[in-house]
Amino acid sequence: MKIQLLPSTFDGAGCATPEQRLTCFLIDDRVTVDAGSIALALTDEQRESVRDVIVTHPHMDHIASLPIFIDDLFGSLTEPVRVHATEEVIALLERDVFNWTVYPRFSELKNQHGPVMQYMPFRTGEEFQVAHLKVTAVPVNHIVPTVGMVVSDGKVTVAFSSDTYHTEEFWELVNSAPHLDALLIEASFPNSMAQLAEVSRHFTPAMLKQELQKLNHNGLDILTVHLKPAYRETLVEEINGLGIPRLGIMEPGRTYEW
Ligand SMILES: [Zn+2]
Ligand SMILES: [Zn+2]
Repeated sequence: MKIQLLPSTFDGAGCATPEQRLTCFLIDDRVTVDAGSIALALTDEQRESVRDVIVTHPHMDHIASLPIFIDDLFGSLTEPVRVHATEEVIALLERDVFNWTVYPRFSELKNQHGPVMQYMPFRTGEEFQVAHLKVTAVPVNHIVPTVGMVVSDGKVTVAFSSDTYHTEEFWELVNSAPHLDALLIEASFPNSMAQLAEVSRHFTPAMLKQELQKLNHNGLDILTVHLKPAYRETLVEEINGLGIPRLGIMEPGRTYEW
């Protein structure tokens, strides 16, 4: 399984910068988990092959350029862009984003080939299929309805925490997987900002270390994501100082393979 955290900002030479401002993981050039930078960072080939988007929650950094992605493709789509989310998240997207005020309601629009966007509701705790992947999502502990998930292609299994504070169901799901190759988990605020992390339902590196005691798998790669750019330098130091084997910081733009 090939996973890339799509970059959201670029330097003057067009290279991805290390800061992560938006969240969008591209899996095997076909499926994304979240869509923050989906319209900004796909190659032309990837833009043609990605038709399934799993949305964990409706925060702007996770959906920012989803409307633009569909807009860019509007006339050329021969199948809809399928947006996989819980009914709760779909209702929020319809109310707050695709509401004819912020953006057109693409779920009601068609081009010459048919619908351009289709919601694919899933239930938490029940496995569902997205392209070649089997996915199970469960609620995590964030400020709005949010899911974390385990994604498998039959050989490789990767877990995504999405945005969360201390949580339980996600670890039950992760620990129930027979095998885990990688865990992509958030670490948003430095240790000095634990209070803000708590009220906004995010982790600091110290909280992450505590949380990882709930993980029963060994020998996997653990990559931290969602480091708030304003505190990146401190976060990098604190994450590297945790002393956890195979724990690193996921680099936007780099392709990881398991
Ligand atoms: Zn969030
Ligand atoms: Zn976020």
